Amino acid sequence: MAMKIVEECINCGACESECPNDAIGQGDSIYTINPELCTECVGAYDTMQCVDVCPIDGCIVPDLEHQESKEELAAKYARRH
Ligand code: SF4
Ligand code: SF4
Repeated sequence: MAMKIVEECINCGACESECPNDAIGQGDSIYTINPELCTECVGAYDTMQCVDVCPIDGCIVPDLEHQESKEELAAKYARRH
């Protein structure tokens, strides 16, 4: 499952450079996560780097419209690296 950034985002930009998949970018009003690229950090880290650095609790949440198993996330990471 990809993660997604919600409207509480304060556009601090801290998450963008932490993503191992270059999945995060600045959108029109808040930062956004490309669900095609996000692997929940599976393949790279044990914890989600964007969630770890974000200063706003609850700002980066599961994207329920893009659900994938751990195996699918690992395969997605492997395809891109
Ligand atoms: Fe990138 Fe990991 Fe955040 Fe997904 S969970 S957007 S892969 S830092
Ligand atoms: Fe927005 Fe959090 Fe990323 Fe900062 S770290 S840009 S508040 S999602």
